[in-house]
Amino acid sequence: MKKADVGVGNRFMFNVGCAHCHHTNMEPSIKCEKCGHILPFYTMNPFVIFKTLPALKLNTVQVDDLYFDFQRQLHPDKLGDVPDEERRWADQHISQINQSYKALKKPILIAKAAILYCKDPSLPLDKFKDDDLPAPGAEFLKAVMALQMDASAETVQQMYNDILDRLNVAISELNEPAILNEASELTYVERLRTLK
Ligand SMILES: [Zn+2]
Repeated sequence: MKKADVGVGNRFMFNVGCAHCHHTNMEPSIKCEKCGHILPFYTMNPFVIFKTLPALKLNTVQVDDLYFDFQRQLHPDKLGDVPDEERRWADQHISQINQSYKALKKPILIAKAAILYCKDPSLPLDKFKDDDLPAPGAEFLKAVMALQMDASAETVQQMYNDILDRLNVAISELNEPAILNEASELTYVERLRTLK
């Protein structure tokens, strides 16, 4: 994917000023595109950090490559002779990157990151509030209760897989209400899975 695709039709504008050369960076990045110094820390959505559109099944090679690239660039030993301020920003960038990288391995956190992305790609994962998840429908709750009483691990797994299939479609369509519904159901079934 080209870098320019990340903003989804340029609906969102990034605008980060470099403290070193005062250049305005319009692309989400950790280093100034003009002088290469580390940019002041700012929050980003996990999908923006990893330069991909939201998806449940991510290109893990691309994500891993970028992750190790970030580690190389931001590692304290690799920064060289930079002001303390830049070291602090590097530290903040790396902790946001680490948190996002871990999140992109878990379906429920991918769903939450996608919901935030639909609102504003500058929102980091910790801005998600579980209170925003809708209560599941009565029929779904009935099914979950039945499974709690009497169900094999396979039946629960089947329900889990069905939710992931629907979540996959909802995320690829950036359908925020549908992602919210599936994320809500997923939290219930994940709890069931740990019981089976
Ligand atoms: Zn600069």
